[in-house]
Amino acid sequence: GLCQKATFLISAAKVEQCPDDIGYEVAFAGRSNAGKSSAINVLTRANLARTSKTPGRTQLINFFALDNERRFVDLPGYGYAKVPLPLKEHWKKHLDAYLSTRKSLVGIFLMMDIRHPLTDFDKVLLEWADTSNLPVHILLTKADKLTFGVAKNTLLKVQQQLNSYHNTTISVQLFSAVKRDGLTDAYSILRQWLHF
Ligand code: GDP
Repeated sequence: GLCQKATFLISAAKVEQCPDDIGYEVAFAGRSNAGKSSAINVLTRANLARTSKTPGRTQLINFFALDNERRFVDLPGYGYAKVPLPLKEHWKKHLDAYLSTRKSLVGIFLMMDIRHPLTDFDKVLLEWADTSNLPVHILLTKADKLTFGVAKNTLLKVQQQLNSYHNTTISVQLFSAVKRDGLTDAYSILRQWLHF
């Protein structure tokens, strides 16, 4: 399997602590509570992302190895109201540094709760990716919370709103960690990006 043997590598507080910048890595981003950890866990068939949720690690960039040259990167969830402002500033600088320097970063998986898609911060991230020519694949998570019709409509609306980004490829799909729906589409993107 694609990501079955994923293992925790390291939590980085600074860009200098990141693993060697070789091979390929996919970063997972999203607003806190969007379902990022659940998605990573389902995709890796492991409980990896729990590591990222242990107190003290939520503001860190957590690296998981799929093999010697491929990694998943769990970025800190953004928009978490309880984080004090100075920490938010630190987080932003940290994340900016990671996103703008990492050569092995081949794309971003962006998790958005299907009931609250395209928040301001999602748009900031999409702008950045568009400017940097980095592909983004969006998982509209918790699709099981809506009827299929409403979910499909939301998918279409989000797709329309993505038409304003012209420089890079942005794709979007329905996803449910609970129902394990959307895995095939997600793996097909991962296989492409990670050269599996
Ligand atoms: P994170 O903060 O982005 O890592 O979000 P989590 O993965 O911890 O999920 C936040 C909450 O949403 C938890 O209570 C999860 O159980 C729930 N959740 C995540 N994915 C799904 C899903 O696909 N369906 C449903 N119904 N709930 C989900």
